[in-house]
Amino acid sequence: MTDIPQDHPRYRSLSTRHRIVSGVDNGITSLEGLIAQGRGEAFDYLIGEDTLSSARAAEYTAAAMILLAKRPGISVNGNAAALVPEELVQLSDKTGAPLEVNLFYRTEERVLKIIKHLQVHGAREVLGAEPDATIPGLSSQRNNVCQSGIYSADVVFVPLEDGDRCEALMNMGKQVIAVDLNPLSRTSQKATVTIVDNIIRAVPNIIEMIGELQGKDNDYLQGIVSGFDNQKGLAHALDSIFRHLRDIKGLH
Ligand code: ATP
Ligand code: MG
Repeated sequence: MTDIPQDHPRYRSLSTRHRIVSGVDNGITSLEGLIAQGRGEAFDYLIGEDTLSSARAAEYTAAAMILLAKRPGISVNGNAAALVPEELVQLSDKTGAPLEVNLFYRTEERVLKIIKHLQVHGAREVLGAEPDATIPGLSSQRNNVCQSGIYSADVVFVPLEDGDRCEALMNMGKQVIAVDLNPLSRTSQKATVTIVDNIIRAVPNIIEMIGELQGKDNDYLQGIVSGFDNQKGLAHALDSIFRHLRDIKGLH
């Protein structure tokens, strides 16, 4: 591993990059995943590499929605597994939502490697090796899902989702929580709740919020969900990008 000095001004970003590259080296992350991370980084730069107030509100809503769900599910791809494996396991443990590996560029080998990787980070059961159901209206490999996981979930947490599948899951009547740094992507526009934040900040935040909200009654949780407006959140993210650009010297 290349040593990145902790006082480097871009330490966090560089160590995240390193984790994704290790993911590729270990056969967990696809090469395309590197490009997706690059697109995410560009938007992260534009929002200021910090959790926006609107993203915090989306994370709080996501925490409430997961707690309210009858059958929550967590979809894991190669980027999410490389970046936040321990946190995804914690989220699953705290909420009872099964982890399910679901890949756009699916190979059996990569699915098994991701399952193993999650197990090394403490997961007991991970679904996805033997899909037995299909998401209707979706031709990509991501239509392969498990009956006991994503297929029958009412609320699906899908960090770093592809727009097509987000739409297909919504068409099945599910509530979809997406994490996507690009407020303009089809995923962001389609999801029930869009968290415009880096997954490395979003998942720990949601875990903390679930800790806060556990024990609150359903009316309280429902109040949080009803008070949330996804379009407003996306507009705030875009405004923050504009404001950030305007604040940069020379662009006044
Ligand atoms: P869509 O299919 O929704 O229109 P897209 O085709 O532009 O999106 P994909 O490659 O399908 O993009 O998905 C990757 C998305 O994940 C990108 O929008 C990118 O901004 C986002 N992303 C990448 N890395 C991260 C990260 N670490 N945290 C949050 N979002 C990320
Ligand atoms: Mg896409």
